[in-house]
Amino acid sequence: MNAYFISAHDFKPFITRLIEARRVIGPVAKRNRFTFERVTRAEDLRLDYDVTILPPKKIFFPPVQDLVHFEGERYAGCIEAEPQVLLGVHFYDVKAIDMTDQLFREKFADPNYLAAREATTVVASNVQRVSDAAFWGSIGADVAPKGHDAFLTMIETGYVFETRTPKGAALLEFGRFRIAEKSEVAAADRVNAEILEKCPERIDHPAEAVAKRLWEVFGDEALWEKLAEDCFSCGSCNVICPTCYCFDVQDRWNLDQKSGARARSWDACLTQDFAQVSLGAGATENFRESRGERFRHRFMRKGAYLNKKLGGPACVGCGRCSQACTADIASPPKVINKIMGAAR
Ligand code: SF4
Ligand code: SF4
Repeated sequence: MNAYFISAHDFKPFITRLIEARRVIGPVAKRNRFTFERVTRAEDLRLDYDVTILPPKKIFFPPVQDLVHFEGERYAGCIEAEPQVLLGVHFYDVKAIDMTDQLFREKFADPNYLAAREATTVVASNVQRVSDAAFWGSIGADVAPKGHDAFLTMIETGYVFETRTPKGAALLEFGRFRIAEKSEVAAADRVNAEILEKCPERIDHPAEAVAKRLWEVFGDEALWEKLAEDCFSCGSCNVICPTCYCFDVQDRWNLDQKSGARARSWDACLTQDFAQVSLGAGATENFRESRGERFRHRFMRKGAYLNKKLGGPACVGCGRCSQACTADIASPPKVINKIMGAAR
């Protein structure tokens, strides 16, 4: 890893040259919120965002995606991975990308996801503004973000650009970078350490204690039904989550009834029919029928089921679920702190 510096004055020309040379995706404003979109002008890039509406998973795993096109007996995969730079990803979303990398690679590796991932240079950037619902300072603190190619930190005089991979170093040619001074690297470290203390929300318990407690209360149906009693089963807390990756696959036939596409779309385990399966002859079975069962599944998955495999909780503390939930019941800090304090 090497650290470089670019002055505030030279930063915009760097972004402009990058946009001219590569397809660049980054945070841009959408009314008073932010989304990851194609950036075509340097002035649209908003590295001062708090959190984006959807996480950057949509770049590698779009909400709707054709997997196979078919016509009669002929069929072909449709992987269209275009080289691109994903710029301005906060460290908590980098951690979530690390998790989906692992989950999409295991067992049946997902070629569509992995091709998009391979074609993308990920540049992380420091959190300049903290979202109202963030709690990344108190969850998975010992899990280091890994899957990025460079890390950009704004300091007083400009930006420190730490390259992590050759893909990240390849971006240096687009800007007037020089080797960073030790004091500049120290300033960047300070910026990234200090922001961890600024989250408005926090989980007051270590991940292992939370996982243990979740298993202890697994069978307490009254508790889960109570926690979920206002749930609309809308699935919003799933679709906006950077670590949720469930999808549904359907064949879509064209009017000619010969050709079409096998496509996948994001799915959500909080919705009523997610776990409904056919028994044949028109009969169905739903193995997570009640709101409490579905609500429990989400919390077990975020705080217990995957911890061993991922090396920490499957929640990165972005707070998007808290913001997306109309019923205001999805916030992990509120639910976990309540469960930790529930009668034993
Ligand atoms: S569970 Fe909520 S806070 Fe945790 S990663 Fe998902 S959306 Fe973010
Ligand atoms: S966003 Fe809220 S209301 Fe909707 S499914 Fe999630 S917990 Fe239930």
